Amino acid sequence: MSAIVIDGKAISLKVREEVKRRAGKLEPRGIVPCLAVILVGEDPASLSYVTAKEKALAEAEMASRDYRLAASTGEDELLALIGRLNADEQVHGILVQLPLPSHISEERVITAIDPRKDVDGFHPVSVGNMVLGRPGFLPCTPHGVLVLLRELRIPTAGAHAVVLGRSNIVGKPLANLLSRRDVNATVTICHTGTKELPSITRQGDILIAAAGRAGLVTADMVKEGAAVIDVGVNRVADSGAKKGYRLRGDVDYGPVAEKAAWITPVPGGVGPMTIAMLLQNVVEAAERFAGGRPC
Ligand code: NAP
Repeated sequence: MSAIVIDGKAISLKVREEVKRRAGKLEPRGIVPCLAVILVGEDPASLSYVTAKEKALAEAEMASRDYRLAASTGEDELLALIGRLNADEQVHGILVQLPLPSHISEERVITAIDPRKDVDGFHPVSVGNMVLGRPGFLPCTPHGVLVLLRELRIPTAGAHAVVLGRSNIVGKPLANLLSRRDVNATVTICHTGTKELPSITRQGDILIAAAGRAGLVTADMVKEGAAVIDVGVNRVADSGAKKGYRLRGDVDYGPVAEKAAWITPVPGGVGPMTIAMLLQNVVEAAERFAGGRPC
């Protein structure tokens, strides 16, 4: 078997077109959806992520406000900025690029964001709403994975979905969303404490890799005909590449593509969907603001 390669870029462009249309509908009311993007420090990967997000916002005719803070910025200073942005009616969403320098508590920072502006979906209120199935912002990467599965009409009802990774931003929310009634998968979560990992991943009709380990998922760990979604983005040294590295997923792509029925490439799979779902959350935040609707 040779897998269908899931074109995350093309699907993300469809989502972004729809977002642009929704943003345009707010224009006559003088509302331009606006995201405040805060980056603390100069981590090159984080810098490239925020640049890509800001570019995508501009393409959707939405606004962004750029806050680039020194790595030495104190937690109080960052919290004060978030307080000002919470109160600013021109700003509909606030994104603090993670990870933060170790002297700043990510938990305190995330919790300081007004849940109505929590377009990353990381605030405990957003997480609670997600778990309870109430309206609220869904975290972008897990939401993007669901959209990919839906767009490709990959059967999820009754399917066994194996999620490799249990982080708060990917693995845990993804496992939760996959078990929702409208998706209806049976979910297993794996992590570093999992025994006999290959014997579990091999059961996955849907296998989602979000471990952050280049090439961890080899063909022998994959069920024939599975849908393999690779969330991992790992920089591996490559002296032949212009930047001295190349991006690699958690999946050993070539051999796994021979065995799976669907597969996402890295780059070009899940990554573009993350940005598209962020834009969708920003326009949603602006629509709620325009309609005076609570979070
Ligand atoms: P993370 O916080 O480091 O979590 C990784 C998870 O994988 C942990 O739960 C860890 O288990 C588990 N894990 C690591 N090695 C494992 C192994 N050998 N066997 C079994 N489980 C293992 O990472 P994250 O933030 O969730 O991100 C995961 C990957 O996705 C990274 O490569 C990241 O760059 C990428 N990512 C991509 C996007 C995108 O838009 N494409 C967005 C977000 C993240 P323990 O809990 O036991 O430590």
